[in-house]
Amino acid sequence: MKWSWRIARVAGIGLYMHVTFLILLAWVGVSYYLKRHQWQDVVGGLAFVGALFTIVVLHELGHALTAKKFGVSTLDITLLPIGGVARLERIPEDPKQELWIALAGPAVNMALALALGILLTITQQIEATFVAESSGNEWLRSLLWINVGLAGFNLLPAFPMDGGRVLRALLAMRMDRTKATHVAATIGQAMAWVFGLVGLFTNPWLVFIALFVWMAATQEDSMVQIRSALGGLPVSSLMINQVHSVAADETLSQVVDYILSESQTDYPVLEGHRVIGVLTRADLIAALARDGLQGKVGSAMKTSFQTAAPGDLVEQVFARMQNCDCHSLPVVSSGRLIGMITMDSVGELLLLQAALPRDFGQIRARFSAKPRVIAA
Ligand code: ZN
Repeated sequence: MKWSWRIARVAGIGLYMHVTFLILLAWVGVSYYLKRHQWQDVVGGLAFVGALFTIVVLHELGHALTAKKFGVSTLDITLLPIGGVARLERIPEDPKQELWIALAGPAVNMALALALGILLTITQQIEATFVAESSGNEWLRSLLWINVGLAGFNLLPAFPMDGGRVLRALLAMRMDRTKATHVAATIGQAMAWVFGLVGLFTNPWLVFIALFVWMAATQEDSMVQIRSALGGLPVSSLMINQVHSVAADETLSQVVDYILSESQTDYPVLEGHRVIGVLTRADLIAALARDGLQGKVGSAMKTSFQTAAPGDLVEQVFARMQNCDCHSLPVVSSGRLIGMITMDSVGELLLLQAALPRDFGQIRARFSAKPRVIAA
């Protein structure tokens, strides 16, 4: 996630803190200071924040360790003001497994609340016997209520809260997953509106949460739609076979001619049949400003670049392209360039899915049946 820093590693999982979590911490610290303007309150507040932090991590570990039981590993855990997000490597196909993973987080909070409740009862009894005035109970009591609050809040049926996933899993037991996600996301967006409106008149923090919920619901919905559109398609079914390649000793002026006369914007650079570089439009513009028209492709191209294999799955390649911010990837088979996969062709398929949700199955089948061309 953008705007987050890695702060630790727990059970082999990277732990990240989102910048907005710091705002929550600062808010807790300041509100402690404002109570009596005493520094020991701030120290107490910071210790409280430490406990809060631990509770959120334990909640996320509840998800991560349950997922691990089903053979799903966790990529990372990010701490957000609304709790935290454990990013799983994949969502299990079986909705029952997703249900258990989603419930595990709030279950950790309920268990902690129960343990704190027992501890509180014991200390209260000890204090009643030996000490006249109560001391640290306030602390334990707030932690108990924070756990109850986190469990309850996370069970609200809105993404990215666990309740949203519980709802999706329950719906997915009765209908197709994409549809289940869409229904769950729509309910999440409606709840975001309610949070936002109530927040406007009561607590600005709620408006902030509403924004998060809205974004997460929208993102989840489009991600699942992308996955269902691209799921199972190999790169060879979507790649462009007619690719114009260039050589390292060509001048930039020649490439400018190509770009002006065709729709291709990224050029694989070949030495024999081997791809030795990629010249993107951005590389070309930067090199033109630096070296002028007589500059060489060899000094303008990227020499470290990613490639795709014809048998790779489009959904995985699409995720890789998003991560490297690449517009296209050369498709290579046994060391030879055989085509190119571009964001445009992936985007067109997604547009088709949006425009023709009913006939999309047929369109997909046509793509899958496309012969795999091996020679370029
Ligand atoms: Zn959770």
